[in-house]
Amino acid sequence: MTIQDIIKQSLQEIKTRGLQLTPEIYGEIFCRHAKRANVILEECQKMEKYLKRLSPELQKTVRSRHVSSVDQLVQYLGSEVMRANPEKSSEIIQAYVLLVKRLLQAVSMLHNKTAAEMAERDKEKITAYLGKEEIDTIREQWNRFVMEYDDSFLKKLSPYCDVAERSDLQAMVGSLTECLKSYSGGGGDFTVVAQVLAAALVPSIASGMNDEIATISAQIRSNPELLTSQAMVEDIRYMIKKRIELDKKAVTSQMTELDSIIEHINQALVRVIDCGESNYDAICKIQGELGDVNLETDSFDVIHMKLLAIASSLETETRVLSDEMKQSSEEISQLRQKVRVLEEALRKERKKAGTDTLTKLPNRRSIDDFIQKQEASYKRYKDDYSVVLFDIDHFKSVNDTYGHDAGDVILSSFGKMLRRYSREVDFVGRWGGEEFLVVLPKTGREGAVRFAEKLREVVSKSKFMYKDVRIPITISGGIADRKSSQDMEDMLKRADENLYFAKESGRNKIAS
Ligand code: GH3
Ligand code: MG
Ligand code: MG
Repeated sequence: MTIQDIIKQSLQEIKTRGLQLTPEIYGEIFCRHAKRANVILEECQKMEKYLKRLSPELQKTVRSRHVSSVDQLVQYLGSEVMRANPEKSSEIIQAYVLLVKRLLQAVSMLHNKTAAEMAERDKEKITAYLGKEEIDTIREQWNRFVMEYDDSFLKKLSPYCDVAERSDLQAMVGSLTECLKSYSGGGGDFTVVAQVLAAALVPSIASGMNDEIATISAQIRSNPELLTSQAMVEDIRYMIKKRIELDKKAVTSQMTELDSIIEHINQALVRVIDCGESNYDAICKIQGELGDVNLETDSFDVIHMKLLAIASSLETETRVLSDEMKQSSEEISQLRQKVRVLEEALRKERKKAGTDTLTKLPNRRSIDDFIQKQEASYKRYKDDYSVVLFDIDHFKSVNDTYGHDAGDVILSSFGKMLRRYSREVDFVGRWGGEEFLVVLPKTGREGAVRFAEKLREVVSKSKFMYKDVRIPITISGGIADRKSSQDMEDMLKRADENLYFAKESGRNKIAS
């Protein structure tokens, strides 16, 4: 059974049942007959759907023409519309073409939030059943919006229409409309309109839809009247939607790439700036280059190229810098090494300055420093301490008898002996000549006496040898503790007085 038979049957049933021929009744009966005749249900629903939307008058004509498929219906309606009112149809087509152009233009700049929002909203609004006024209103919005933006997209239209006046979008749209009118007005030649629409569909950013667009473009070119088909309008809507998604993705990934280049530039700039003023010229140059990047007017590709160029010049700059830094860091480490050597030498010198060259014991200056520290501790914590001033007895005659060298050996040996018999914390130094001072921290008078007596005894019993000759040596010592003294000077004075007293008492004595 053919569709014509189904239509016949449906109309017959309506007639015999005395029903009113409304689209609803017709649709219902038609579909039932179609179903019984095993005609695909979807096709039936589509037909039903389309038929319902037609005016009753038109529905009657369609039925009288025995249209049997959606395609046939669309074709029939298209030719019918053209025949009936060529002026009106060309107006609608122009309105649609311009609207699609606007939409696609806007889609090509989807990184703009307003454009994305407008596209999203209008996409839903646009159907084949919009009146010219409604289309024009939507287009007006886009017109205002697009006026502020790049119109390079229209280059794609130039092979089909004269859109030479690109600096004035309004004028361009006017000439495009004129051009379209001349093609589509009166005669029904949709070829050029179809070409314009196909050209407008070519993606501006994303390339993922090229095959589908090629197919649909070919269809439109080979059969321009398809433009009046609802299915084609649906296809175009679908493509716009898909293109928006693809373009959004493309824009996002391009933006991510730009962001990463910009981030790279930022880091490099920070490095350059960190490296000081010597690179002032380089910074100025890069700043100049950055100033040349115009996000408003440059296309993505141009911005991309400019930023890449900047990034690479920064790269070179930082490489030069890091070489310089490496070189200077080597110099710095060499200098540091030199400083370390000098510091060590200085430390030795300082120590030497505080050391007696003959006995290698701290000299009087060092003894003074040490006593100062003890004094500070005494003042703060009441830590008592004592000093013992030793003096070798009749040392002049040692020199006289055995020679100066022998005297030196005795001094040095006695120094070592003092060091050996004193505690780690005790401070042994050469006070001058054949006098030695021992500072005994945390030691009172009694402790100091015990220590001094021990030394006196050890010395008197020791065998001081010089060139196989034994030189008998005795020492005398004067003691003073800090607690019994008024101050540090007084303590040292008392020790000296006690030493004098020990000498007076016959030598080889300790006095306190
Ligand atoms: P007293 O028992 O009273 O201390 O008699 P003394 O001879 O030890 O005292 P005096 O102060 O008269 O003599 C100290 C001598 O020590 C004089 C000086 O030549 C000698 N002397 C000082 N420094 C050195 C030195 O570095 N090396 C040598 N060999 N002798 C020195
Ligand atoms: Mg002396
Ligand atoms: Mg002496």
